Amino acid sequence: MKKIISHPTSPTSNLTPVIGIEVHVQAKTKSKMFCGCKSVYEGAAPNSLTCPVCLGLPGALPVPNKKAIEAAIKLGLALNCKIQEHSFFERKNYFYPDLPKGYQISQYQKPLCINGFINIGNRKIRINRVHQEEDTGKLIHEKDATLIDFNRSGVPLIEIVSEADISSAEEAVAYLKRLQQTIRYLGISDADMEKGSMRLEANVSIQERGKFKVGNSTVKALGDYNINPRVELKNINSFRFVKKAIEYEIGRQWKMDGTLVQETRGYDEKKGVTFSQRGKEESQDYRYFPEPDIPPMRFEKVWIEKLRKGLPELPDVKENRFVSDYKIAKKDAIILAETREKADFFEAVVAEKVPAQEAANWIINRSESSKLSSKELAETIRKSKSGRIGDTEELKKIIRQVLVDNHEPVEDYKKGKKEALKFLIGKVMFATRGKADVKVTKQILEKELT
Ligand code: ZN
Ligand code: MN
Repeated sequence: MKKIISHPTSPTSNLTPVIGIEVHVQAKTKSKMFCGCKSVYEGAAPNSLTCPVCLGLPGALPVPNKKAIEAAIKLGLALNCKIQEHSFFERKNYFYPDLPKGYQISQYQKPLCINGFINIGNRKIRINRVHQEEDTGKLIHEKDATLIDFNRSGVPLIEIVSEADISSAEEAVAYLKRLQQTIRYLGISDADMEKGSMRLEANVSIQERGKFKVGNSTVKALGDYNINPRVELKNINSFRFVKKAIEYEIGRQWKMDGTLVQETRGYDEKKGVTFSQRGKEESQDYRYFPEPDIPPMRFEKVWIEKLRKGLPELPDVKENRFVSDYKIAKKDAIILAETREKADFFEAVVAEKVPAQEAANWIINRSESSKLSSKELAETIRKSKSGRIGDTEELKKIIRQVLVDNHEPVEDYKKGKKEALKFLIGKVMFATRGKADVKVTKQILEKELT
């Protein structure tokens, strides 16, 4: 009999959520993983980007894409993985209409990268593996038919498998955000969840604290403890829903004590619930075996080290450097390092001899700042110290001049492009050396533009 004290997310509970996440990202390469077809398929006519290799026709021979392999290894390096000097592809056999060969070329025994980690706060989330594979075609379900588009078939995928070290929905989101940020820093993928270039599956279970061990992408019982079944969550395509789906699932499993089954569940965004998709299944036997049409790969240490040296400064290093170099608050450093573009912009403004914390405050609190050049923003900040423009008539005059000088954004705004307003506010900010009140400026602008 289990002694349940309280909800598993409560620190005083004898239970804890145990979560592992599998992520697939599409590598941004010109051509597909094993053929010369274009891998950017957005907007292309269905089945127009195909050839015998990615259609799985008999006798067609796959040739690995070096750029895709480089991308996967770069990610492995950025995630503190060990890069395996010896690696090979395998066939993962299963039948599905979007998989014309009847198998996916993937990796099993010897993935490119193993044993990495991501730090979130003071927690270390271990990465079991980063491996390379190919995407499947896309099924389009119509009213009375299902259509197949093979343009996506064979697009390079990088799979990142975490250990089940994650113990809350917040931690899952933090892990995924850091992973996405790292991938975008490397420029190897758009990693866009809404557009499907980043997809995830979360394995969620609830276990008794201290009675299990996590490793080798499994959760093992210690002693005579019986592991509770896990649920695989699918169909989650935004960070907001990751949090909601996992929270819902933890609550559901807690209430189901004793009657829970192992299954795959989807997330219904509208109802905010998870629902059963596939019943109890043991790990399938995919009959993995080495892909006979692709020779094993051997990577030289020098080549791997060259890739390591070519990595950009990564988010955690940048955040810490911003704190130590510029003496800005850590929370500000985290915001400024969100993207490489924002971080570079901040440093360019500071290079114009603006006090760093002031530059940080402007960029963080006034989104119009990013519409200016670094020189313009620096000048604005420097001259902003001598008070505000109190006279609305004076401000109106300046704004009308800005509107005359910026014909194009004005037209954009009138066509419904709301971003253009920010650009115009930025120009007013610059013209007034930061002395215009942003709220008042916005009001006047909106009035003048209607
Ligand atoms: Zn092809
Ligand atoms: Mn996979």
